Amino acid sequence: MKNEYLIGVLETVKKRNPGEPEFIQAVTEVLETLEPVIDRRPDLVEAGVVDRLVEPERQIIFRVPWVDDNGKVQVNRGFRVQFNSAIGPYKGGIRLHPSVYIGIIKFLGFEQVFKNSLTTLPMGGGKGGSDFDPKGKSDGEVMRFCQSFMTELSKHIGADCDVPAGDIGTGAREVGYMFGQYKRIRNEFTGVLTGKGLTFGGSLARTEATGYGLCYFTAEMLKANGKSFEGKTVVISGSGNVAIYACQKATAMGAKVVAMSDSNGYVYDPNGIDLAAVKQLKEVERKRIREYAATHPTATYTEGCSGIWSIPCDIALPCATQNEINKESAELLVKNGCFCVSEGANMPSTPEAIEVYLQNGLLYGPAKAANAGGVATSGLEMSQNSERLSWTFEEVDAKLQDIMKSIFAACESAAKEYGMEGNYMAGANIAGFLKVAEAMKAQGCV
Ligand code: NDP
Repeated sequence: MKNEYLIGVLETVKKRNPGEPEFIQAVTEVLETLEPVIDRRPDLVEAGVVDRLVEPERQIIFRVPWVDDNGKVQVNRGFRVQFNSAIGPYKGGIRLHPSVYIGIIKFLGFEQVFKNSLTTLPMGGGKGGSDFDPKGKSDGEVMRFCQSFMTELSKHIGADCDVPAGDIGTGAREVGYMFGQYKRIRNEFTGVLTGKGLTFGGSLARTEATGYGLCYFTAEMLKANGKSFEGKTVVISGSGNVAIYACQKATAMGAKVVAMSDSNGYVYDPNGIDLAAVKQLKEVERKRIREYAATHPTATYTEGCSGIWSIPCDIALPCATQNEINKESAELLVKNGCFCVSEGANMPSTPEAIEVYLQNGLLYGPAKAANAGGVATSGLEMSQNSERLSWTFEEVDAKLQDIMKSIFAACESAAKEYGMEGNYMAGANIAGFLKVAEAMKAQGCV
């Protein structure tokens, strides 16, 4: 990076946020790709847009006490980072995972600002979560945690202010408990959360949206480069919400998905993954992916996560967590003939891995564009809640497809306009940035 202004902003971010490598990584990636924009737009420098963009508008950290099944008091830490509201109410999921700390929530919130801008819907960026681990907890424990979490969070959110949703560890069950508690405390039934159950304001196709949207985006990227999913071998990491519906849509588009994983290990089934079995294990029984191999003789289970990238494939869809593909894994993918990596998870590739994709001419679909289908459909859920109407699955799915196509088009044309044709990461960062930057400039120094 050569631009003095951007170098200065990054230095300040590093000084101000020590011990938060994920946040610094996310900011660095974006600032590096904004260089040609900043070179052309002194007015944005004058307005201090980037200086303001890298500092969250508000960060809330709170105690979450709850009582476990043995009557013992447990204490977790809760977070909500309201990053940017220039183009709409804060919007972004809640992550429940033991690895959660402020640096993870800030990286996710920062990414969310650009992603939400790309969807074309009026949503600002935010993110929240807790170091609570839902794994191995009873329904009662999860409910008591969610109620305690929402008791504090309810003071800071609202349908026109900040609308949380799901993320790792937060699915329909957790959103339901949180919504119930919000309603009880505030005595109002509003669209304060998305990803709700269908009986109380949820949108059809929200569950499928991130995985489906990932495949719609990837299909557009493939098409623009004379390729398709048809007949291709696909590896998908994770076996949660995003991974499951990515597997379903990629298969429907003619691909064969041969591997999936969880945080313990991965299964390789050269005959093609039996998704019904994975759904039963993960969505119903809440068991480990290793159990899949016990009932599928053609499949093998391997302990550990990173080995999944050594399986030969045409297309890789990382759908588990941040930094799951490093340089070595990226080199293995290339060596084995992979020509496309498209990201369902947030920031699943390290900067060194991205370098390998770009140097080897892979088609690379960056998370903030490729996985924006989830939040886009959350935006559609907000519209339905405001209208007090429910749209059909087909209506929502058709809107999702249109949005993913327009996101790809925006990435493609921004990359071209700024002299980086085919670099969809740069295109996504630039297109997402420009809309937020114009709004921030127009609203003055706030
Ligand atoms: P889920 O909790 O439903 O599933 C997460 C999956 O990833 C599980 O298989 C989990 O395994 C695995 N995983 C989680 N943490 C790790 C880890 N540290 N190492 C290896 N594997 C891990 O979450 P989602 O599917 O909702 O989210 C997956 C990714 O997609 C995240 O990066 C999320 O931010 C992103 N995303 C999600 C959206 C959504 O709508 N849900 C929208 C946009 C992005 P295990 O069960 O063993 O923990």
